[in-house]
Amino acid sequence: MQVIASVFDMQSTAENLRSKDQLIGLVPTMGALHEGHLSLVRLAKERADTVIVSIFVNPTQFGPNEDFAKYPRDLARDVELCEKAGVDYVFAPTVEEMYPKGYSTFVSEELISRPLCGITRPNHFRGVTTVVAKLFNIVRPDIAIFGQKDAQQVAVIKKMVNDLHFCIDVVTAPTLREADGVAMSSRNRYLSGNEREDAQVIYRALQRAKEMVDSGVRNTDRLIAEATHLLSSRRRIRIIYVSIVDRCTMDAAREVLPGKAMMAIAVWVDEVRLIDNMLL
Ligand code: AMP
Repeated sequence: MQVIASVFDMQSTAENLRSKDQLIGLVPTMGALHEGHLSLVRLAKERADTVIVSIFVNPTQFGPNEDFAKYPRDLARDVELCEKAGVDYVFAPTVEEMYPKGYSTFVSEELISRPLCGITRPNHFRGVTTVVAKLFNIVRPDIAIFGQKDAQQVAVIKKMVNDLHFCIDVVTAPTLREADGVAMSSRNRYLSGNEREDAQVIYRALQRAKEMVDSGVRNTDRLIAEATHLLSSRRRIRIIYVSIVDRCTMDAAREVLPGKAMMAIAVWVDEVRLIDNMLL
């Protein structure tokens, strides 16, 4: 496995792979890798000949009061995990390499980015689409794998790929969970024991909504009220949103259309912001 830090080296390596007819799979990450990330790598290995994992904590997707500075970074450990998982190349550029002095071009999707996380993190998706478009231009992968855990992110990226005519197949991988149901996330390491226990209610609220839908409930107000009630029973949790939306457009839904609707939850568990979702 090779670790590449420069944009130029990554571009010429990818160009060389393409000339050998290698199908390239890209897994974009911010590092601090966990099993969830590695499940994306496994999917990439099934679908592509060469797998490239990018590791880059992208400053443009963090708000001024968010956790960019303290976001967990451990490149040596990440590289080891990638090597064990059979990754071919790790692309780990510096911030200066990706955003040199005077950088001034951004990519912004303006519809699907608005609701849910877009309300409390107004420039977040602009940062995501910008860095992902840059990675797509650097690597020019055939497929790119993203996690359903960040459902709005996948929807925004699919829209960007379509709108900007990227010839890339965006593949969505299912959410991997810890044994207690908490969705795996690099931010889980910030949770204390008590906070972790409270965080378990997020998955329970999603499961409860799914059970209600399976037993015939279609009214989204009722489902949201029940999930909100469960979440509110934990004193460390403050709700950012509990919404039921169309899984592709992220538009709020009045009635649940099974298979099309998704419940999305974002909460603060004390100082840790967690998101999760479930198809209903
Ligand atoms: P991040 O490093 O948080 O930017 O995540 C990189 C990629 O891994 C994104 O496509 C995420 O959606 C995906 N991912 C994060 N957590 C999980 C998880 N628990 N299960 C599956 N994919 C995940």
